Amino acid sequence: MEMEKIIKSIYENYAGDLGRGKVADYIPPLAKVSPDKYAISVCTVDGKRYNIGDYTEKFSIQSISKVFTLAMLAPMVGKELWESVGKEPSGSPFNSLVQLEYEKGIPRNPFINAGALVITDKLVERVPDLNDKVLEFVRGLAGDDDIFYNREVAASEYVTGERNKALAHLMKSFGNFKGKVSQVISAYCHHCSIEMSTEQLAKAFLFLANGGVNPLSGEAVVGTRDAKRINAIMLTCGFYDESGDFAYRVGMPGKSGVGGGIVAVIPGKLSIAVWSPELNVHGNSYRGIATLADFTTELGISVF
Ligand code: GLN
Repeated sequence: MEMEKIIKSIYENYAGDLGRGKVADYIPPLAKVSPDKYAISVCTVDGKRYNIGDYTEKFSIQSISKVFTLAMLAPMVGKELWESVGKEPSGSPFNSLVQLEYEKGIPRNPFINAGALVITDKLVERVPDLNDKVLEFVRGLAGDDDIFYNREVAASEYVTGERNKALAHLMKSFGNFKGKVSQVISAYCHHCSIEMSTEQLAKAFLFLANGGVNPLSGEAVVGTRDAKRINAIMLTCGFYDESGDFAYRVGMPGKSGVGGGIVAVIPGKLSIAVWSPELNVHGNSYRGIATLADFTTELGISVF
């Protein structure tokens, strides 16, 4: 079946599939989002675009930002990065504190909150005006300047984010966090509050489907080796304690966020972004996962 038909048939199949999860409300402004929003966007590395549903509407990218900040930091630091953060699946929820205590403040990977806080700490140390630079970086990836922070979401997460502050303080007690906790958490909350549409997200992830080179600009965002590594960590760690299940059902490296977005790639071929705000118990969009599972099954290609 051709791509357009596949996407349309999946969209129609799941259009009424609601009520099996819950819109995130632990960051209060996120609870205002309508649960029935649904969008799918595909970009191929050779320039084809497919969109359906609410694909121009922007939503909170949340943990999807962890991929952007890792991609921004990776070329600035060498392999010593992996002394401060691991590359193993955690098997734990995204905001868990337990593992961090007995693993001496070294987070399992950069895609759980503790790991992303280490990445942000290192960015704060290295990049003046970090929030402007992150926005610039993401806009460059998407080839679109119409991407902004949602200050209300960032402020709300900052005041309610006691677990993230606890993670940062715990890592600081182990010497694995250099900056001021308040400054790093504020930067992290801003990155999570970026709002993008599926159309913009699919474009912004194309570099990971293209060996690190953004096919929109021809620019090398990260080296081939870092692109391979980021994809490998997305495959093994992109969905917290549901990463194995996602790899099994979908077979693509990807990353989710509690705003209900998921972005995934098939290296050499395409990127796909899905948005559906109702989340399962792991904090991942259940309709997003179902969509992607059908997508690779019906298309007959995945990374395997
Ligand atoms: N900003 C969110 C948090 O730290 C991101 C979590 C997520 O999307 N899984 O809780």
